Amino acid sequence: MSLFSDPNGVAPVKCSRAGCGEPAHFELVWRNPKIHTDGRTKTWLACGEHREFLVDYLSSRGFLLETKAME
Ligand SMILES: [Zn+2]
Repeated sequence: MSLFSDPNGVAPVKCSRAGCGEPAHFELVWRNPKIHTDGRTKTWLACGEHREFLVDYLSSRGFLLETKAME
């Protein structure tokens, strides 16, 4: 099951890195405590190439909660 959901149910599963259209293989679950004060989380999708970049970006800010490999 993917945490990534689209209202139309047709979202392509693509990397969240700007300018990257590669298929995503990882889910990065994160939360900004200043914005997401109600416990909601956000999910970014990452291809293999950008997983490390996005993980570093989120973890350096203390936002990263979890990294999952997608099916
Ligand atoms: Zn990518």
